[in-house]
Amino acid sequence: MKSHVQAAVIGGGVVGASVLYHLAKAGWRDVALIERSELTSGSTWHAAGGMHTINGDPNVAKLQQYTIELYKEIEEISGQSCGVHLTGGLMLAGTAERWDWLKMVNARGRYLGMKLDMVSVDEAAKLFPLMDKRHFVGALYDPIEGHVDPWGVTVAYAKSAQLKGAEIYRHTRVVDLKQRSDGSWDVITDKGTIHAQHVVNAGGLWAREVGRMVGLELPILAMEHQYIISEEIPEVAASPSEMLHVVDFEGEIYMRQEAKGMLMGTYERHGKPWSERQTPWDFGHELLASDLDRIAPSLEVGFRHFPAIEKAGIRKVINGPFTFAPDGNPLIGPIRGLRNFWVACGVMAGFSQAGGVGLALAGWMVDGDPGFDVWAMDVARFGDWATLAYTNAKVRENYSRRFRIRFPNEELPAARPLRTTPIYDRLKDRNAVFGDYWGLEHALWFAPKGSEAVEQTTFRRSNAHPSVAEECHAVRNDVGLLEISNYGKFEVTGPGAESWLMQTMANRMPAEGRIVLTPMLNHRGKLLGDFTIAKLEAERFFIVGIYAAENHYLRWFERHPWPADVAVRACATDYVGLSLAGPKSRDLLQGLVRDDLSTAAFPFLSFRRMDVGMIPAMVGRISFTGDLGYEIWVRPDWQRALYDLLVEAGKPFGLKNFGARALHSLRLEKSFGTWAREYRPIYGPYEAGLDRFIDVRKNDFVGRSAAVEERDRGPERRLVTFTVEADGADAIGDEPVWHEGEVVGWTTSGGYAHSVQKSVALGYVPAARAGATSGFEIEIIGQRRRAMRIDEPLFDPKGLRMRA
Ligand SMILES: Cc1cc2nc3c(=O)[nH]c(=O)nc-3n(C[C@H](O)[C@H](O)[C@H](O)COP(=O)(O)OP(=O)(O)OC[C@H]3O[C@@H](n4cnc5c(N)ncnc54)[C@H](O)[C@@H]3O)c2cc1C
Repeated sequence: MKSHVQAAVIGGGVVGASVLYHLAKAGWRDVALIERSELTSGSTWHAAGGMHTINGDPNVAKLQQYTIELYKEIEEISGQSCGVHLTGGLMLAGTAERWDWLKMVNARGRYLGMKLDMVSVDEAAKLFPLMDKRHFVGALYDPIEGHVDPWGVTVAYAKSAQLKGAEIYRHTRVVDLKQRSDGSWDVITDKGTIHAQHVVNAGGLWAREVGRMVGLELPILAMEHQYIISEEIPEVAASPSEMLHVVDFEGEIYMRQEAKGMLMGTYERHGKPWSERQTPWDFGHELLASDLDRIAPSLEVGFRHFPAIEKAGIRKVINGPFTFAPDGNPLIGPIRGLRNFWVACGVMAGFSQAGGVGLALAGWMVDGDPGFDVWAMDVARFGDWATLAYTNAKVRENYSRRFRIRFPNEELPAARPLRTTPIYDRLKDRNAVFGDYWGLEHALWFAPKGSEAVEQTTFRRSNAHPSVAEECHAVRNDVGLLEISNYGKFEVTGPGAESWLMQTMANRMPAEGRIVLTPMLNHRGKLLGDFTIAKLEAERFFIVGIYAAENHYLRWFERHPWPADVAVRACATDYVGLSLAGPKSRDLLQGLVRDDLSTAAFPFLSFRRMDVGMIPAMVGRISFTGDLGYEIWVRPDWQRALYDLLVEAGKPFGLKNFGARALHSLRLEKSFGTWAREYRPIYGPYEAGLDRFIDVRKNDFVGRSAAVEERDRGPERRLVTFTVEADGADAIGDEPVWHEGEVVGWTTSGGYAHSVQKSVALGYVPAARAGATSGFEIEIIGQRRRAMRIDEPLFDPKGLRMRA
């Protein structure tokens, strides 16, 4: 065993082996994998080995494509077969809603370069004769699906890594981790200590326990998972070609051929967590006791839909545990506050994802950037509110919904309400329908008095539509009141605050009492965030961004350490906020403050402390609605009083509460982008139309030279706005954009812009097409809808309202 390595990867499952391979491939030869037993000794060895490219997040789908393509490469390098069976796959729809969903998956596949195909029930039955056609309405065919040999894949990664110089220490357990003052790690094993520059936790079933060695409670939980293997099925034995990989959503089952029978697995509604608090270290190559009763309801549906499997009978039942994060996506990346400590865990679909996870993590470690948009997998997407019990509730929910449709307007109920602000009950009394944002409840819209505050889930316009229209009307004509506590807030203070911010952000900093909008770029000049920054006092900046990205921002800030005379603090809910927006908002607020709110005295983008009634607040003249508006920030103990005051004072002005759905509609008609939709690390600021917020003349800042290159080269694509001839269903994001009969781009957001009464979509198209206005179509639920690209925002294109 070496005494020093550049990176120690803990865990020899498929994920750890892939990370090791990708580190070695990226040029880090002095790397070692440490495995407490044999390779594959966690979840990996008893996996069904199924693989597919389709994923709800297009960026994850791309990494899944990469994983599947990689098998050829590691087979060639290692000489080890991965046992790839690329059979193709069918996703069967049994309901009209599922059929719609498949159409949307198919459409998304178009711009990802997938060759998916919608097929009729008859065609599906030709491809997969075991199905009883009566239960289905159609299917989606994917040629890039199948299964692999889990052991073969893991060994192929491991051998390929070894051939590039990596080492593997089997039967060696990491028992503790101690950080040295220089940020490197002592990896203490039962065979001695290795000093490592970097540590990767790829501990799979034990990733939680490895995390605890460094004081980290990772939000992952293992669930028991069962599949059956049937006896020989004559139709399968007689088939000249291998059976397809099949998902039957209504039965909540997946299937593939195993020998001359079928393997059938299920994600049952009442799943069972395994080792909820602590995974035993002595768990090895053993299976859990089978419990057919638990999966009986799914099996019954499966047997009805595929009668030959029931006829053949069950030969074997496999029950094994594997881990999930609360939303079912992997947890990868560096951990804030723990230098040189990385995670690659919670990977529930190792044979579709481990290659992409290894590539992204190795890129992050070697180049300082994953090289992809990994937002959906980033460990920073959970905060410390994701406790053990929260994770337990959410993982169970996610498991039970594995094959259920998640509608774009659907809010999941588990672990809620969890975090609430002081006005939660006030909003509830007004019939708010709530959503969960980073564990915090916020109002989505307000249902009519006397009706049930529930939104019906749908791909089309929902029962919220008329209420949201009224909320938008109030903002554009009178005044609306929105809670904004779920925005992310930071304070940067101290003598060096301004100079540190000037290095970190792409725009110059505001004068005292003013606000600027600024993107934050990474070294490749891509968008890492967008903020409004207010200078409250000479050495005090108040920053507003996206709450869900709080950890992600903090981690980035830590990489660009601030000097000793600067303090950076995430405020979380230390400040909560309310926003007034609409043409009457000034008159309303003026009645409550002594300060002069006239445009001459308090123009657009002003920020200052003022008392609102008796309540000490910070007030900014800014609103994401694009209207005249104010954001008012207070300590939580003042929020109820502020809310009551504004509601009472707002009566003569026709004040109406509005929620996130109306805000979305209002920002679309202003063509305002937002983080994780229009602004992501795959886009540059010039592509995203943020040119006016980049100041390349001020001083050097992170990403400046790459941004200048983008500017001089000219962006490859551009963010544009469309009006869409929709019919009851609007774009939601991730639809393909067609131009003159060809798929050329994708949407990032969409919806109905109520005040201008138009269906709107934002999206990216190649720069060469961005000048065209006609010839565009956006594919919404399988229908190509005519779309016009527009040059200016639909509402108040000159921005006169917000400056009024
Ligand atoms: C029944 C079943 C069916 C499945 N079917 C599929 C499928 O069809 N398709 C699919 O893609 N996925 C499937 N999976 C999921 C798949 O198994 C996982 O995605 C994958 O195995 C996760 O790999 P991993 O490397 O993260 O974790 P693991 O396989 O758990 O590996 C972790 C490794 O780390 C080692 N380790 C942990 N702590 C230490 C330590 N302190 N010191 C040294 N070594 C340590 C462990 O011994 C273990 O070998 C299935 C899982 C099960 C249980």
